[in-house]
Amino acid sequence: MEEIKVGLEVHVQLVTLKTKLFCSCSSDYRGKPPNTNICPVCTGLPGSMPTLNKKAVEEALKVALMLNAQPYETSYFFRKTYFYPDLPKNFQITQYDKAGGYPLAHDGYLKLSNGKTVRIERIHLEEDPGRIYYEGSRATARYSLIDYNRSGIALIEIVTAPDMSSPEEARDFVERLTTILSDVGINVKDYEGSLRVDVNVSYAGGERVEVKNVTGAASVEKAIIYEMFRQKTMYEKGIKVVRETRAWDEKRRITIASRGKEFEAEYRYMPEPDLPPVTITESLIKKVKEEIGGSQEDRYRELINDGINEELAKKISSDKNLFNVYEKIKFYEPSLKQLAANVLANEISYLIKRYSIKTLPEDVSGLAEILQNYRIIPDHESVVAYLKKWIDGEKVKISFKTVSAENIQNDIMQIISENYEKIRNLEYNKKFEFLMGILIKKFGKENKKVLVEELTKVLNKIK
Ligand SMILES: [Zn+2]
Repeated sequence: MEEIKVGLEVHVQLVTLKTKLFCSCSSDYRGKPPNTNICPVCTGLPGSMPTLNKKAVEEALKVALMLNAQPYETSYFFRKTYFYPDLPKNFQITQYDKAGGYPLAHDGYLKLSNGKTVRIERIHLEEDPGRIYYEGSRATARYSLIDYNRSGIALIEIVTAPDMSSPEEARDFVERLTTILSDVGINVKDYEGSLRVDVNVSYAGGERVEVKNVTGAASVEKAIIYEMFRQKTMYEKGIKVVRETRAWDEKRRITIASRGKEFEAEYRYMPEPDLPPVTITESLIKKVKEEIGGSQEDRYRELINDGINEELAKKISSDKNLFNVYEKIKFYEPSLKQLAANVLANEISYLIKRYSIKTLPEDVSGLAEILQNYRIIPDHESVVAYLKKWIDGEKVKISFKTVSAENIQNDIMQIISENYEKIRNLEYNKKFEFLMGILIKKFGKENKKVLVEELTKVLNKIK
């Protein structure tokens, strides 16, 4: 197979923010009537002045640090000029890395599941444009509709080097990035269209084709598979692939030619005179570092150091929620950590998916109760039911009389000595049955599993 090269430009809305990037309009624009979440700044009325949302810089910095990128001490905003109805000012405020400009951060990397490193060239802040709607399909609509509610929403753009060489790697990149984003509270999965990818694909050293606005990891993979096939077919027929911009049609799962690519020069970048430079101080970096805690890699390493196997460690480290519970249990009762890892990676992961659970309880005492009694809970369904109770914040009390394996042996020994005369001449099976009868009466049949196990051990010992 000929080589393909894939580079991504990922746009992420900073969904944790309350307001837009340069004005005080709400960042919660979804589901609002068109053009009601706007002001003179985000619709670019003459005389309006942008003010930078400080929190946006902090959030962007969090992502940059998680991606191992270096922040620039000073970076600038530029005006990127183009004429399109989604852009009321006719320019987009963004950051630029040429003409004396610097982005927010540069030279990071992200490791893929297969161990490969994808370089991240830069991360910068910019504003989202408005949205264009068509009644019916774009091809048949007689006019376009525009909604500026999204105009001015804070975005970060993450630009990778063309380091990925298969559709699967690009998908993996987006999935790993999504985990990193959720680690810092940016849960893109909960906000439709909050992560949009421009995919650059070139086949066999040919021109690169940019597929714009692909949403979600699975669609990124599909768009690249299609583009690979399209470019390969052209290559084999001897047709030159031209550098162009295409659009991803999610319904038909194909890419289609769209407007001609503007080249950098046509954007007429110029410094934005209404905004001061962005300054990232050492103390801000320190503050942000404290807030973000560790990365997936850090979590994975800790689990492996604790003796948790790779498969479980991978599952738990990919979800900060699961890892937090693991850590709490480890602190609460260190001897439960192995069992906790098992239950978190299996039953609790299952429940999170099944009931779309967003957060797990802070208090792990209910979970500890379940784990401590794990062996005597009669069946798997009951385990899951207890876990669901804990997740729902209900008080968990294992409702039957519980016995622990350690204590039960003494009780068994005592019962044997009390009944020694009656059982000394009985066959093993009869002896077993007789003693089980007494034990069940004393501890309840819900403890049968552990009683059988422990009685067998004791009888084998004294045989
Ligand atoms: Zn506004």
